Amino acid sequence: MPDNMKTKLNLFSSLFFLLLVLFSCRTEKKPASRPVTDIPGPKQEWAIVIHGGAGGMTRENLAPELEKEYRESLLTAIKTGKKILAEGGSALDAVEQTIKTMEDNPLFNAGKGAVFTHEGRNELDAAIMDGSNLAAGAVAGVTDIKNPITAARRVMTNSPHVMLSGSGASQFAKEQGLEIVPPSYFYTEKRFNELQELLKKEKNGTVGCCALDKSGNLAAGTSTGGMANKRYNRIGDSPIIGAGTYANNKTCAVSGTGHGEYFIRYTVAHDISALMEYKGLSVKEASELVVNDKLVKAGGSGGVICLDKNGNISMPFNSAGMFRGFATADGKEGIFVFKDEGVK
Ligand code: ASP
Repeated sequence: MPDNMKTKLNLFSSLFFLLLVLFSCRTEKKPASRPVTDIPGPKQEWAIVIHGGAGGMTRENLAPELEKEYRESLLTAIKTGKKILAEGGSALDAVEQTIKTMEDNPLFNAGKGAVFTHEGRNELDAAIMDGSNLAAGAVAGVTDIKNPITAARRVMTNSPHVMLSGSGASQFAKEQGLEIVPPSYFYTEKRFNELQELLKKEKNGTVGCCALDKSGNLAAGTSTGGMANKRYNRIGDSPIIGAGTYANNKTCAVSGTGHGEYFIRYTVAHDISALMEYKGLSVKEASELVVNDKLVKAGGSGGVICLDKNGNISMPFNSAGMFRGFATADGKEGIFVFKDEGVK
């Protein structure tokens, strides 16, 4: 072959290769350009979603009377937040007051019904986040604050810090005039007996709430007694911003429940928000990817409730069940426990 032919052929194949590379780059980037607004469902004036913990509950192992009690308690919680939002109240108020009803209810592993530590104590964690300005507050390992979610909110609004722990958090709560209870307030026979069983195996449960208000602000909150049988002042994901709790008006509000060690290491709540912000995923796509792909591969059990700025809700979990419920301004509402029910 003559030399000039060879050069032409080389030039031609280089050009072809370059075009191939350029084309494959373009197709690879395609999902990133998916807009966040590309989500089915009409925009909601307000919306609320709650969870009462993920776990091993199935239709076979959850007693019908207990199931009824859980559903009624979830409904009471949803009603509280719904009323606040429908009357034009803030997402933060809805989150705090809704979680408070669950903290005061011994059924849930938060506040009154908190699980026991290995040593037979109750150490509570909670966090709240304001999606409008990324302000956040949290308390961890508290033993005598009746409503840790309120203490978390005060940390956010009345202190220069984001997270307070142990006795310092109690002192702050006292100074704020919050209700302090003797540690024995958190003693419930059911949880204590459970501990005796659980000294053999670990178990979890928690409460959380995400809300969107009429001003378009998102907020998220989570409150928990942590994992039963925990030791050495262990702190879980719930009070850690970006792990178990996160809210950002640009993306979504998230509250998680499950094996906290995984939620911390995989920064679950922020990961969902980041997938929406940087990759353009919808709230459903982002939360499904993190909970039912990343976490499953890692071996982390649990779930999340998420709410985006348009009121789209997603509640994926990879455990057998998750106590959960939602309500939106257009009149839709639901309370679910098992895997085979709920909003798909
Ligand atoms: N995530 C909580 C923790 O690890 C427990 C739970 O949600 O069940 O402390």
